Amino acid sequence: MMSHAALSDAIEGSISKSVAPSTFQQTPEPSVGGVALEELAKTYATPLYILDKATIRQQATSYLETLKTAYPGEAVVLYAAKANLNLALAKFVNDLGLAIDVVSSGELYTALQAGVSADWIYMNGNNKSDAELEMALDAGICRLMVDNEEELAQIDAIVRGRGLKEKPAVLLRVAPGIEAHTHDYLKTGTDSNKFGMPINRIPEIVGVCLTRYAETIDLAGLHAHIGSQIFDALPYQDLARIMLKTYGDLRERFNGLILRDLDLGGGLGICYQTSDDPPSIEEAIAQLARTVAETAQSIDYPLPRLLLEPGRSLVATAGITLYTVGTVKKTESGRVFVAVDGGMGDNIRPALYQADYSALAIVKSSQKTPEQQAEPGVQSARVTLVGKYCESGDVLLRDWQAPRLVAGDRVVIFGTGAYNYAMASTYNRIGRPAMVW
Ligand code: PLP
Repeated sequence: MMSHAALSDAIEGSISKSVAPSTFQQTPEPSVGGVALEELAKTYATPLYILDKATIRQQATSYLETLKTAYPGEAVVLYAAKANLNLALAKFVNDLGLAIDVVSSGELYTALQAGVSADWIYMNGNNKSDAELEMALDAGICRLMVDNEEELAQIDAIVRGRGLKEKPAVLLRVAPGIEAHTHDYLKTGTDSNKFGMPINRIPEIVGVCLTRYAETIDLAGLHAHIGSQIFDALPYQDLARIMLKTYGDLRERFNGLILRDLDLGGGLGICYQTSDDPPSIEEAIAQLARTVAETAQSIDYPLPRLLLEPGRSLVATAGITLYTVGTVKKTESGRVFVAVDGGMGDNIRPALYQADYSALAIVKSSQKTPEQQAEPGVQSARVTLVGKYCESGDVLLRDWQAPRLVAGDRVVIFGTGAYNYAMASTYNRIGRPAMVW
């Protein structure tokens, strides 16, 4: 998915359905959810994040329905809030039947403020502070995913210190040693990254939970997340087998111990480019669910409650960002820079891990002066779409085959519903864009 020179879509004047929100229409004028983008730009200004509820509903339903059909046990879909969270979104996905996976006190606070009940909240994170753990334990959230042994000691101290009556249910995050083919920064399941505990140490750590922390910690299961923007269903099936083998080994070693939860994380990829080819939710999740059920059956293990934590595949395609073109510049070497009114502050992903996007230009030829129409150097060309931030790396698209653009034209970037708003900064003291449904 990374670093394609792409986007012939824009010059052909159409965008592939696979990268756009399901209600996106290009004619008679570009719109989402029946609302013209131009009207949104005029009402809310640009840059603007636009989210399509229908797409999120559709993706959530795919997860829920697939699990209902393919998994004979209980299954819970946790929305990985890190992908994109605000009050409205937290409430919306929870109303759709998704639990919420948070990774900080800020996300936890947002979910609680949105009215999500604590038993629908789960907490991940590799370096939770005492204050974050206290907040989670005081709220009585459903599960804590414990990343390391120090965190077990932290939880134990808080439970004792606060005299909590109920033992918090925890899942131990495992680094299962699975190599998922994605960008290095998006890989999380191997021992070369910071998350989780090596799988070969899990028996020892489970032993510690069952003895030293027997009075303060309720060990509910194991958790693993192998990475993000994954295009292959097989690593998930490998993961399910590895985890269930560990469950079987732990049962043998610890006197019939049964772990009731199994969390296999998120990470399913989406189409940023027409050429991207991730498995569908139905395909990947059905195969995964069947693998869990069959493997559990093969070792005569009670079906665990299956937890999944998708983020990107629920919300990325639902989102677009709408920009307005400002400066258009042609350098002596012939490179054309088209600058829009946002950039790395609202979308850091191209700079952070060379993420590539599809885009569409909305050329408003009616507003062009005859001089602009005749302007040299900005005819249809491969352009570099840049932002307005004081960094040379503030590039949104490289080698974008764009039509002739002048100030006032609009640019739509697709697939920005995940890890854009959530990663937005106020660098240069430029405010973050608004977000509308
Ligand atoms: N769960 C955990 C523990 C994660 O770290 C992440 C993302 O990094 C996710 C779930 C969600 O991943 P994605 O948005 O790729 O589905």
